Amino acid sequence: MISAETAHEHIRQCVQALPGVRVPLNNALGLCLVNAIVSDVDSPPFDKALLDGYAISVKDKSPTLRITEQVLAGGVPHHAVEPGTTIRVMTGAPIPDGADAVIKHEDVHQLKESLIQFPTKGVVEGGGIMSRGTSFHSGQEVLPAGKSLTPIDLALIAELGKAKVQVIPRPQVAVLATGNELVDVGRPVGPAQICNSNGPMLLALLESQCVKTTDLGIGRDDPEMLHQLVQQGLKADVLLITGGVSAGVMDLVPGVLEKLGVEKVFHKVRIKPGKPLWFGKQEKDGKSTYVFGMPGNPVSTLVSFELFVKPMLGMLGGRGYSTLSTMTGRLTDAKQYRGNRTTYFPCRILYDAHARDKMPVELLPWGGSADLAAMTRANALAIFPAGDYELPAGSEVEVLTLSSSNVI
Ligand code: AMP
Ligand code: MG
Repeated sequence: MISAETAHEHIRQCVQALPGVRVPLNNALGLCLVNAIVSDVDSPPFDKALLDGYAISVKDKSPTLRITEQVLAGGVPHHAVEPGTTIRVMTGAPIPDGADAVIKHEDVHQLKESLIQFPTKGVVEGGGIMSRGTSFHSGQEVLPAGKSLTPIDLALIAELGKAKVQVIPRPQVAVLATGNELVDVGRPVGPAQICNSNGPMLLALLESQCVKTTDLGIGRDDPEMLHQLVQQGLKADVLLITGGVSAGVMDLVPGVLEKLGVEKVFHKVRIKPGKPLWFGKQEKDGKSTYVFGMPGNPVSTLVSFELFVKPMLGMLGGRGYSTLSTMTGRLTDAKQYRGNRTTYFPCRILYDAHARDKMPVELLPWGGSADLAAMTRANALAIFPAGDYELPAGSEVEVLTLSSSNVI
C-alpha cells in the first residue's frame, strides 16, 4: 500500500497532456492554449477617438473652428485638421491628420451649424485619443502558453483577428458503475438492491472539469460483461470504474483490466475512505487511456475523485497537476483520532468574515464511506494524518475544500 503523496507522484509521472487541436473560438472556453498568442497587429490599430466630439489641434489659436467633416466609427477621414478647422468624430473613429485632441461634444459651444467656438475646456494634447498600439504592439505576447482560456481571453484573440486557436481538447471520460446489487435510478429496486448513485455523481462532478462524458451504465459482476464494457470504455481517454476493486470474491475489475492490457500503476492507497483505489494505463495504437478503479462506496468514490481524478484531468487537459485546495482551520471541538491511514473526514468550515485567525471547522456526524447524506452537509474534508492522538478544541486542522459543495 502506498501513501497519497506517492500515488500523486505516480499519476503525475505517467500522465501526459493530450495532443493539441485547432478549434473555433466558441469551442475553446476553459481549454488550455498550446502556444503563446503573439499579436501580429497593434491595438488599437489606429489612433482612435475615445468619445463623441471634435478633433482639434491644441496649438491652433483661432477663436472659431469650422467643421469640415463628420467621421463615424468605421469611417475614414477625407480631410486633415487645418488651422481654423475641426472635424466632428464619433467614438471609435480614426483621428484625422493634424489633430492631437478630441474635445467632448458637451464641452463645445456651437455657434452655427458648421461653426464652433475654440473650446476652453479639455484642451490637452492627446486628450480623448487612444493612440495606436496603446494596448499592445505587433510582435507582443498577449497570452502565455498553457493558459486556460476565459471569455476575456477569447475576446482578446478575436480582437487579433484569429478565428481559431490551438488548444488541448476536452478529454473524453467514460463512467462505468459495477455491482450485482445496483439498479438504474428510476427502476424498481428489489430486496438487497440499491440504486446506482456513483454514476450520476461522477457524471455531475465531471461537468465542471472541461471534459466530455460517456455513461456506460451498470456492469454486472460478471467477467464477460465487464470485459465488454471495459473494452468499450477504453476507447475514451479516461475510464472511471466504481466498485469491484476491493478484496471481495466479486471484485473482478483489476483482473479484467489486466487482461485487457491495462498496466497497473498502483492498487491501494493509505487513505480512508478510498483505500482500494486502482490506477493504471493502457497504451494502444499510439493512444493512452488512463483508468481509475474506484471503491464503490459513494464517499470513497467522491474522495478518490477529489484527491486524484481531478488533478489528473488537469494534467491531461494541459492545466498541469493542480495542487489540492487545502487551508488550515481550527477544530470547534476536541477530536480523538486513531488510525493507520490518513482520514478525510466530512466537516464544515464555518466561514466568518470577522474571524481574525483560522476559520472554525466543525466535524460532522458521519457513518463512514456509505454515508453520503452526511456529505451533503459538508463543504470540506478535514485531514487527519495516521496516528493515535487527541486534538483539543481549537487545534489546527488541515482541510480540503470541496468545489462540488454549495454549503457555506
Ligand atoms: P465494492 O467496492 O464493489 O465492494 O462496493 C462497496 C460498497 O459500495 C457496497 O456496499 C456497494 O453496494 C456500494 N456501491 C458500489 N457501487 C455503488 C454505486 N454505483 N452506487 C452506490 N453504491 C455503490
Ligand atoms: Mg461490488
